[in-house]
Amino acid sequence: MKLDCLIQNGTQINFDTMTTYTADLCIKDGKIVDCPPGEDREARITIDATGKYVVPGLFDFHLHVNCSGGFMGINPDVCLIPYGVTGALDAGSCGCFNFEQFYRLDIMPRVPNIYALLNICSHGVEGVTTVNMRPELLNPAEFREDDIRKVFDKHPDILRGLKIRFDRDCLANTYGIEALERTVEIAEKIEKVDGHRCLVGLHFDWLPEYVHVPEICKTLRPGDIFYHLYMPRGETIYDENGHVRECMKEARRRGVLFDNANARFYWNWKNLTNAFADGFFPDMVGTDLVNFNLNNAPLHSLPYTMAVMSAAGMGTLELFRATTLAPASAIGVLDKNGTLEVGKPANVSVFDVSDWTDKILIDGFGTPIKANKRFTPLCTVKDGQVLYRAVDF
Ligand SMILES: [Zn+2]
Repeated sequence: MKLDCLIQNGTQINFDTMTTYTADLCIKDGKIVDCPPGEDREARITIDATGKYVVPGLFDFHLHVNCSGGFMGINPDVCLIPYGVTGALDAGSCGCFNFEQFYRLDIMPRVPNIYALLNICSHGVEGVTTVNMRPELLNPAEFREDDIRKVFDKHPDILRGLKIRFDRDCLANTYGIEALERTVEIAEKIEKVDGHRCLVGLHFDWLPEYVHVPEICKTLRPGDIFYHLYMPRGETIYDENGHVRECMKEARRRGVLFDNANARFYWNWKNLTNAFADGFFPDMVGTDLVNFNLNNAPLHSLPYTMAVMSAAGMGTLELFRATTLAPASAIGVLDKNGTLEVGKPANVSVFDVSDWTDKILIDGFGTPIKANKRFTPLCTVKDGQVLYRAVDF
């Protein structure tokens, strides 16, 4: 068989058994194909991946790519591919008023597979308080159910859910849990009446005194996402002894999913290691990349975030699962992401995972963290094309 690309002898992961095996990966016409070593095969590009991980192209479960019409998005074409990321979920940059423009400029034409959560606020994230701009106010009376449902009708394959940012600025000492309840109610209509997938992604942040974590946990449904799990400001997921609260464990048992979304001040080292000591690992490892934290510690990139999570005690195979299969499954996009199955689009990354014991990482508050492993992207293949390859690989 004539192949476009043959990635030989790499370490692949069986995510069912969480074990590794050595195998070749064959790519032809943009897809992964079956072509065992015994068969006559000829490849235009042959890559020796001996000792390297060959994994599905990484999928970042939380970032912002509204770079053409917004103030904070990253350009996904140039900012993701060199880091081994071939798919991503934009976490609610835009709402029903500005989604169409966002779709045409920054989703449809982009190289990575971009999906999105629609912000429950009509205009999306207009500003964040750290850069002294106006946060979206969560007045449920202003949620435009009809317009939101129309946008889902138009883009059911791209939109995967609704996003709500729950913090004291957005709630403004006026609105409370009813804003989340109303978001869930609209999501249910989109699912049950309109027939589209619609999870709710909750940005968990510094809450006002009258909103509490247990009621948030109770309101989220199985499959909904709790972002910024290890957030240290105000009421947190921890009890007074630093242990993960029972309501969080109960939410996990019910099927609520958790993502660290590691941006800036949304985590600190103490919270992260406390949760890990309790066995409370994230289901997905996302970044919350925006243009003011890209390529700059403490966030930097998805591979850098993986190094942080590894230093805190997450295993290498678990990390690859949390950045490939888990996020793609959570939003139902395994047809194009998170898998190396034969017949699927060839979105593939090759990583070197090596010791990194001389490196000090930092959290969002400057606390030094001793690294243990480095995740170095060596090659990124998108729809069968080798779009990135390190010069020495
Ligand atoms: Zn975000």
